[in-house]
Amino acid sequence: MSKYPELITNFLSFVKVNTRSDPNSTTIPSAERETHFLNMLKEKLEKMGLADVHTNEQSAYVFATLPANTEQAVPTVGLISHIDTADFNAENVTPKIVKNYDGQSVIPLDKAGKYTLDPAVFKSLKKYKGDTLITTDGATLLGADDKSGVAEIIAAIAYLQANPTIKHGTIKIGFGPDEEIGTGADHFDVNDFGADVAYTVDGGPLGDLNYETFNAAEAKVTIQGTDVHPAEAKGVMVNAIQLGIDFHEALPEFDRPERTAGRQGFFHIYDFQGSVDHTSLTYIIRDHDRERFEARKRLFKGIADQMNAELGTERIKVTLKDQYYNMGEIIQKDPAVVEVAEQAMKNVGVQPHIFPVRGGTDGSKISFMGLPTPNLFAGGENMHGRFEYVSEQTMEKAVDVIIEIVKLFAEK
Ligand SMILES: [Zn+2]
Repeated sequence: MSKYPELITNFLSFVKVNTRSDPNSTTIPSAERETHFLNMLKEKLEKMGLADVHTNEQSAYVFATLPANTEQAVPTVGLISHIDTADFNAENVTPKIVKNYDGQSVIPLDKAGKYTLDPAVFKSLKKYKGDTLITTDGATLLGADDKSGVAEIIAAIAYLQANPTIKHGTIKIGFGPDEEIGTGADHFDVNDFGADVAYTVDGGPLGDLNYETFNAAEAKVTIQGTDVHPAEAKGVMVNAIQLGIDFHEALPEFDRPERTAGRQGFFHIYDFQGSVDHTSLTYIIRDHDRERFEARKRLFKGIADQMNAELGTERIKVTLKDQYYNMGEIIQKDPAVVEVAEQAMKNVGVQPHIFPVRGGTDGSKISFMGLPTPNLFAGGENMHGRFEYVSEQTMEKAVDVIIEIVKLFAEK
């Protein structure tokens, strides 16, 4: 019998509800089905007897409070997960359970055998010898990102309720929409949430702990050409497609996602629409280091300026928009929030794996709102697609870590 009796049953029931967010929507949440699930969670939190369960108006987050059971003044710890799933089929998710995995067999997903989890392809499988794995049936994603986080937070709270001898400060719970489309945390209400420190439980495999993310900007380049008949083009035609190619070629050729890792930043072109008359290029610019990030944006603009100078007309326009910043900047000022997480992992026998995320987390935005929010592992592997899976034992470890964090804060 598991220490956390409802962890897996909750998780399995959560993943069956379609909560795919909608990148083309401007509503909050982006999809009605997210509201439906958030309301389900709200009811669940109410049934658990939590205090102040409510939907925050501006963000659509569901917030709840587990009151402190100690007289000591200890920090209020927030626990946050997102409920939406990535841009992949999430209709009729049918999780499959593989008990006591041997660490080497190929796991069939669909009945026809078209999709499999093969340790030769997905090397991570070898780590899970003896574990119970939860996989998809090949048709959908699983949604362990991030319903494992939701189930783990709920299991940790239920455990604390059932074991009142464990002393803890006030704990705030926040479940929100639209992380996968990058907008959910934009509206996060730190005042209503009311935590002193927080964690997103939204990381990958066992031990993941992240307090650094990219600095991020989006850049759009629009180019105006002059289109004339090719027969009479000499000295007259200005081909906007060619200018777009020239612009792209002027960027450092090795600073691309497919050629960088670790702390190396990049320029990533992900859309190129062109005609002779008009061409547009869309990029994301990423760097962990704030100064290098600013330098990348200057370089980007500088290329356009120089091309415009050579053309004698302003044919190339650049618009840059910052998206989020590296939360390491905030957290380094008060690293206790990370140190406690690291210590908690060690205390429950998990080796912390600290590394800078090559992306953002909800915590990148929330940290800059004044609430330091690093990211903890939730257990998922191969996220965002049909090969997603999670280990029950890793999920249990995630709950152990959450409980240990809360305990450590109460002892501080
Ligand atoms: Zn996630």
